[in-house]
Amino acid sequence: MPRLEEYREIAGPSILEELHLLARHLKGKSILQINSTAIGGGVAEILNRMVPLLNELEIDTRWEVIKGGESFYAVTKKFHNALHGDSQTIRPEDYQVYEDTLDQNLSQMSLEADVVFIHDPQPAALVKKRKTLKNRWIWRCHIDLSEPAPPVWDFLRPYIEQYDSCVFSAPSFAQSLPIPQILIPPSIDPLSDKNRELSPEEIRAILERLHIPTDKPLITQVSRFDRLKDPLGVIEAFLQVKPYLEARLLLAGGSANDDPEGAQVLKEVREKAEQDPDILVLSLPPTSHLEINAIQRASALILQKSIREGFGLTVSEALWKEKPVIAGAVGGIPLQIVHQHSGILVHSVEGAAYWMKKLLHEPQLAKKLGENGKEHVRQNFLLTRHLRDYLLLFLSLEHAGSDMIHLQ
Ligand code: UDP
Repeated sequence: MPRLEEYREIAGPSILEELHLLARHLKGKSILQINSTAIGGGVAEILNRMVPLLNELEIDTRWEVIKGGESFYAVTKKFHNALHGDSQTIRPEDYQVYEDTLDQNLSQMSLEADVVFIHDPQPAALVKKRKTLKNRWIWRCHIDLSEPAPPVWDFLRPYIEQYDSCVFSAPSFAQSLPIPQILIPPSIDPLSDKNRELSPEEIRAILERLHIPTDKPLITQVSRFDRLKDPLGVIEAFLQVKPYLEARLLLAGGSANDDPEGAQVLKEVREKAEQDPDILVLSLPPTSHLEINAIQRASALILQKSIREGFGLTVSEALWKEKPVIAGAVGGIPLQIVHQHSGILVHSVEGAAYWMKKLLHEPQLAKKLGENGKEHVRQNFLLTRHLRDYLLLFLSLEHAGSDMIHLQ
């Protein structure tokens, strides 16, 4: 795995110096990261890199994953959809499954650390243990909380209020809460297998192995098969402009261990894709980082037509590869895309269809969007910036109540 020093050239020397300076003031502190899946989805993607780099900076960091049965993940997926604004029927016994599962986890976990960093709603109620521990707790919410459905948010809110602070990915997710709310967007790792440079030969070999033909331009969406990523809307948009294009649509993705709906959505996508032989659906195992890298690099156009989105790492991943991206104007996506400068923001199937056609017919415009996008990601969404924001957050907790922290 790349060491911090290897980011100097890409991220610039000053951020590395900042990281070392901040880390010196946190040396020996311990951080415990907790989420609900070790593989699949953006949170696991980030923790895989964030944890080793924090340790390299001599901040003692471990990562634990809560355990739950099928019924727990069915409930937390309902929570997830409800927090994204969808109306869901949640029964009293669902809340009980959630509470019981977290109680079981609490009985088996050690939460001894200076800072306990809890990701998303699934493990949020672990905070009830906080009363007996004298440490700091952060709730890191990665999901789009712009319009949470009240029953689920009302259930979670009393837990969230017990945290020292919470972190959101976009300003529109802020809630009325009595604790500080901090804006920290996520990031991509430019040196990981998902994002590092690949030679044309490597790309070609990977696409061949995956049986993806490259004789026509590829329009691609890489996403878990999740309704909120709107894969059916992507197919619909493609079918609308298909008569005017020589192109293929590729929907590539897998599932996450904590998402029980993936198989059903994939089935619906496959059924709809049967309408046209130029629509390819690829189900990938969760370790397909190089494959996704190659697919993104081989694509002429990337879509991320989400209906709700916490951040949408796939957008930054594609922009980093200088690809023109058409994406839903939701959640954290508008932080990454300035419309018609670093990509295209859309609000409908028709909008996505219109821009698909336009960008494939205007390669100069498409190229410019990709170039601007890469620079925007370099400045805002690389792992080093994210790491610095977390170090600043830990320092601010250490010095809670101070207006200013002096670092020598
Ligand atoms: N991803 C993956 N395999 C897949 C689908 C997605 O590795 O089959 C990766 C994708 O490249 C990105 C992350 O998972 O790094 C998804 O993060 P994002 O924020 O886009 O969405 P989430 O899945 O967290 O809602």
